[in-house]
Amino acid sequence: MRYQVEFRRYQRQFRQPLVTAHGVWRDRHGIILRLTEAAGRVGYGEIAPLDWFGTETLAQAWEFCQGLSGALHPSDLWTIPASLPACQFGFEAAALECAQLEESGDRLSVPTLTYSALLPTGAAALQAWQPLWQQGTRTFKWKIGVAPLQAELSGLTQLLQTLPQSAKLRLDANGGLSWNTACQWLDICADHAQIEFLEQPLPVDQLDAMLKLGDRYPTPLALDESVATLPQLEWCYQQGWRGIFVVKPAIAGSPTRLRQFCQQPHIDVVWSSVFETAIARHYIEHRLIPALIPGTAQLRPLGFGTRHWFTDATLDQPEPEQLWQTL
Ligand SMILES: [Mg+2]
Repeated sequence: MRYQVEFRRYQRQFRQPLVTAHGVWRDRHGIILRLTEAAGRVGYGEIAPLDWFGTETLAQAWEFCQGLSGALHPSDLWTIPASLPACQFGFEAAALECAQLEESGDRLSVPTLTYSALLPTGAAALQAWQPLWQQGTRTFKWKIGVAPLQAELSGLTQLLQTLPQSAKLRLDANGGLSWNTACQWLDICADHAQIEFLEQPLPVDQLDAMLKLGDRYPTPLALDESVATLPQLEWCYQQGWRGIFVVKPAIAGSPTRLRQFCQQPHIDVVWSSVFETAIARHYIEHRLIPALIPGTAQLRPLGFGTRHWFTDATLDQPEPEQLWQTL
C-alpha cells in the first residue's frame, strides 16, 4: 500500500507583527499535505516549521516534500529524520487521520478546553485584553524581554492593575533575560498570585540556572524553547525538570512518541500553538490531547488563543477539504 501525496503552501499575515526576544515576525508560512490511500480515504496534515525554535526551515521542509515524488509508503513515515520535526508531525498526523489508526478514533471525548490569549507586546496589551475578556478569556500571555527592564516592570504593574483580579497572566521572556534580570522579574512576580508562570526566562543553554531559579522563587517556571522538540523534552526531563513544559506538538516531532513521553509521571504540560491552521489544530485538540487526557481532567488553558492575531479566517475553517480548496 502506498499513499498518493500532494502538497500546497500557505501564507498569512499577522494583524500586527509579533514582537518577541527573537525579533519581529510578520507572516506565517507553512505547508498543507494531503495523503490519499488506495481505498480513497484521505488524511490532511500540516507542516508549520519554526526555525528560530530549532526546527527545519520552510525551504528544507518543502525540499523534503518535493523529494517524495508524489508517493509515500507507510513505513517511510518512521524514517523522516529528527532534523525535520515539523515534517514528522505533519506526515504522521495525516497518516493517522487517513488510516484512522488511532484506537477509539472518533469516540474520544474531548475535555473541556479553555484558552490563554496572546496579548500584543508592550503597552498595547493594556487595552487589548478587554475584548478578549468579554469573549470569555480568563488567561492572558504577555511577551517580555524586548524593552528596557524598568519600562517593562512598570508596564507589568500597570497591566496587573488593569486586569480583573480573577484573570491569570503568563509572562514569556523567550529566553531574553539574564540571571539578574530574571531575579528582578521573579522578585516582583512573587507578590502577585495572578501570575500563573514565567516562561523561558533564560536561553536554551542555561537549563541549570533555570533549575536553580525554580528552586529559589515561588512563581512556577515553564520551559518552551528548551523543549521545542522531543529529544529536548526528553533531555530536560532527564536533567530533573519538573516545572511546566510548554509543548507545541506541531514542531515537537512524532505525535506517537510525544504521547509516550507525556504518559510518564509528573509531566505538567501547557499545550501550545505555533500559529498553525485549523488542520494541525484540529488534530492536536481532537486526537492528540483526548488520547492523553481523560475527558474529565482539568487542563491548563491551552496556548491556542491566537486566532485574533489574523484578520483572514480562511485557514481557521474546520472542514479540511474546504481549507485545501482555498490554497
Ligand atoms: Mg514561549
